[in-house]
Amino acid sequence: MLLNIVKAKAQSGEDIPFEISFQLDDNLISYKGYKFLTPAIVKGKMNYQNEKLLIIANVNFKILAICDNCSENFEKNINFDFEENFVENFNSHNEEDYLINQTSVEIDKPVIDNLLLNIPTKMLCKDSCKGLCSICGKNKNFYSCNCKSLEDELEKLENPFNQLKK
Ligand SMILES: [Zn+2]
Ligand SMILES: [Zn+2]
Repeated sequence: MLLNIVKAKAQSGEDIPFEISFQLDDNLISYKGYKFLTPAIVKGKMNYQNEKLLIIANVNFKILAICDNCSENFEKNINFDFEENFVENFNSHNEEDYLINQTSVEIDKPVIDNLLLNIPTKMLCKDSCKGLCSICGKNKNFYSCNCKSLEDELEKLENPFNQLKK
């Protein structure tokens, strides 16, 4: 997705606000079983000075995630900020920078690079998610079962130390 930077170049040294949105490729997150539910909205400001463009922006989108605890699908809002430099050429600059294509920059590159760092490694449908019963497999957020008390009983019977204590 190309972001036009003509205005920033014409008004060198000034903060130029921008907002752009685009759909991200599901392949970026499908390895985790997630899907994008909304386009990414990238909102921020750019500043061009000394052959260098600084972009400071906020990214916001929704994904369909899978709870690591109970395996249910749920909607998760992802929101993060990034700050990246674009340069006219790499000769005298850091290799971590991105390249300017004369009048535009490919804004999706830094968004994608920062995206994976900002998707939580552990996803829970809610902080209080009770997960699945380890015995019967029921989702304990929706169903109650008597497995726990049964498990306790079995443990009492089977644990040899309990037998010794007796
Ligand atoms: Zn859950
Ligand atoms: Zn159970």
